[in-house]
Amino acid sequence: MEPISQLVMLCLGGMAAWLTLAVRERRTTTGECYATVAASRLRPRHRSGSRYGVTLTSAIVLGAFGLLAPHLAAAEETAASDEAVAAPQGSVVRWSGEAESCGMGGKTWKANEGVCYFPIDFEHPAGRIEIARWPKAGERETRWLDIEDKDFGEENVEYPDDSLIHLSEEDLARHSREQAEIEPVFKTDTEPVYSLPLAPPAKPLPEGKEFGVERSFNDVPKSAHTGADYPIGLDNPVHAVAAGKVVLTGEHLFAGNSVYVDHGDGLVSMYFHLNSIEVEEGQTVAAGDELGKVGETGRATGPHLHLGLRWRDARIDPTLLIGKLQVVDVP
Ligand SMILES: [Zn+2]
Repeated sequence: MEPISQLVMLCLGGMAAWLTLAVRERRTTTGECYATVAASRLRPRHRSGSRYGVTLTSAIVLGAFGLLAPHLAAAEETAASDEAVAAPQGSVVRWSGEAESCGMGGKTWKANEGVCYFPIDFEHPAGRIEIARWPKAGERETRWLDIEDKDFGEENVEYPDDSLIHLSEEDLARHSREQAEIEPVFKTDTEPVYSLPLAPPAKPLPEGKEFGVERSFNDVPKSAHTGADYPIGLDNPVHAVAAGKVVLTGEHLFAGNSVYVDHGDGLVSMYFHLNSIEVEEGQTVAAGDELGKVGETGRATGPHLHLGLRWRDARIDPTLLIGKLQVVDVP
């Protein structure tokens, strides 16, 4: 039973008990919730022995309701938290089944072949939220999701080019323009064409590192690192992690030569610091197709591939979806 309906039941029960006693006392009063009634009943307005006894009985009965209610509510809370799922920031929660659609944070979207994926932005505030799904047949189901605070660590990078640390007015304006150009890419809402797990963006693929790290450059704090860095040599080919459409290519201030691929379902992969770009905007790609070559363009300390993943606007750890799926399952 929902906590609200339980309280209403208790309230009605309390009022019924009170009315029975009130009739016995041949008194009429407007009904109130048990807590208030119990308090008013405690006032010894009638000094005659039997009436006072009835009033006292009434107070005990109603007081018991009052004492019971918080315990019943607590029991309900415990039951709900037993069904809670815990997931760290930057991860993906999977709710398998035959869902039609899924919901979180006031947004709803179509399930992917019956499965609901809930990507958690790496800077999503820690705490309890509700996730929901609508089965093909049946009523909406919900679960508590406890988002756990994750310490991604911090790092200071010694960087030789100070012009990319303390930006000029021109570069600040350029960065703003680029951000405005990139932002719509993450708002796409196309049919899913990807499959999980995602394919490796390079072969062989070394370990991807430093997702979420709080970075400083030359001791100047900058924004956190939103992707995984793969140490791969210059001019090695970079591959699409899944089928999709190239929605943006560019030569950006920090990211250097960049490629953005939309895989549908709000999932976008991005490849930064490329030495060369081998695809064009609007081009359709298959998983494993070459997008460009590894480089060190933009703000990079050496050749490497920076791979970013954004899923329904949540910045998530790419290493959790590549090669082997590491998601948090809803039991
Ligand atoms: Zn990076």
